[in-house]
Amino acid sequence: MGKTETEYEVIVIGAGLAGLLTAWYLKEAGKKVLILESGTVASGQTGRTTAKITSQHGLKYDTLIKKIGKERAGLYAGANQKAIDAYEELIQENQIDCEFKRCPAYLYTTAKVNSGLLKREADAAKSLGIPAYFTTETELPFAVEGAVCFEDQARFLPLEFVGALAEGLEIRENCQVIGIKGNRVITREGMLEAEKIVVAAHYPFRNLPGFYFLRQHQERSYVLKLSGCPEYTGMYLGIDQDGLSLRQAGDFLLLGGGSHRTGENQEGGKYTFLETAVKKYFPEARIEDRWSAQDCMPHDGIPFIGQFSYFTPNLYVITGFQKWGMTSSMVAAQLIRDAICGRENPYAKVFTPQRCHIRAGMENFLADAGVSVKGLAGGMFTKRHRCTHMGCKLTRNRDEQSWDCPCHGSRFDSKGKLLDNPAIKNRD
Ligand SMILES: Cc1cc2nc3c(=O)[nH]c(=O)nc-3n(C[C@H](O)[C@H](O)[C@H](O)COP(=O)(O)OP(=O)(O)OC[C@H]3O[C@@H](n4cnc5c(N)ncnc54)[C@H](O)[C@@H]3O)c2cc1C
Repeated sequence: MGKTETEYEVIVIGAGLAGLLTAWYLKEAGKKVLILESGTVASGQTGRTTAKITSQHGLKYDTLIKKIGKERAGLYAGANQKAIDAYEELIQENQIDCEFKRCPAYLYTTAKVNSGLLKREADAAKSLGIPAYFTTETELPFAVEGAVCFEDQARFLPLEFVGALAEGLEIRENCQVIGIKGNRVITREGMLEAEKIVVAAHYPFRNLPGFYFLRQHQERSYVLKLSGCPEYTGMYLGIDQDGLSLRQAGDFLLLGGGSHRTGENQEGGKYTFLETAVKKYFPEARIEDRWSAQDCMPHDGIPFIGQFSYFTPNLYVITGFQKWGMTSSMVAAQLIRDAICGRENPYAKVFTPQRCHIRAGMENFLADAGVSVKGLAGGMFTKRHRCTHMGCKLTRNRDEQSWDCPCHGSRFDSKGKLLDNPAIKNRD
């Protein structure tokens, strides 16, 4: 390995939305920053998001208040609400052409039994300062039993936005990080050193310290891009088993759904499920494109943003966005900037990876541990279909023809090429 490069104050690993925004704010604060990206800019989950910019993170606030208390739940809500304003400000100040638009966000149900959940969610969100209300009026092509509207949320075209951010940043693409030792970042091409290192690689590829592989799993969802649909003002997400996600993107409608834990789609049928919904609700529509993506689901329902572990004061992590990475990336970027620049940030205590929300996450921790033990045991009896992360048994994803890990969510194509981390190596 050649000589170590030492000219950067901060190295950010990953050029998804989280890494790019973090580098942007650090650069604005006067830091010399380099981003290392294993693929190309936004080649990870950011390139496949539906990009609703909202503090409406599914059914969140009623549960959060019960699990972590009103004060902390209020900080979570406040941080994500402020993130929407921060996007608007950044986009306006830098004249970024990305169709940023304010719009309402709705959670809906078609099941009577679930409408009470939405009423409680509306009350909880309102009590935390979010402009929220319960309604039964929506633009959806079917009747709902209830919906929670969050007013004044937003949407944009994420690729136009990240493209503009990337132009002003120093980024090394096709540069995979394979290790971190102290202040050194190890890539296949050589070593770099920085005072601070930020792991914004979606799922941290480093297992210890931090133990993120024990603290979250990944979930995958499917999207169709439709033309020929009526234009939607609001953004929608169904809370029922067969719930759909809808949001206007330019002239197209993005229709999403079919969520499952990564590694648990042997039967397939997720795209078929969406196609059936298109036939039923948008018979005039044409399917222009389709894709799927995944995100990290932390046990206590809160992203990990801050110091990677107690033992690594110069190493930071951003992960665990639960499919709500737009506002979460903005929250993360500002938190990490403030941590590195030695500024106080009132939201840090909610998102710190060193938090102790045992009660809030125990049930999910135990369920995840069960899946991992099963995956690891299965891996001992197979040679061909083992994950290169920790050796769990991979399963076939029929919709994507990929081999996916139920334990931590790494994915490989049929030839063994790595598609999604935390693994960093291809399969033989
Ligand atoms: C179907 C779907 C729809 C979604 N819709 C929404 C939505 O409407 N609103 C919302 O808020 N959120 C949404 N999300 C979530 C959101 O898209 C993600 O949370 C967000 O894009 C994650 O950004 P990121 O920067 O953390 O990760 P990524 O975009 O995956 O970026 C991480 C980057 O790190 C790179 N990398 C990984 N390992 C290494 C390494 N070892 N060395 C160097 N580089 C590395 C990767 O190549 C990648 O480019 C959705 C998620 C899914 C699955």
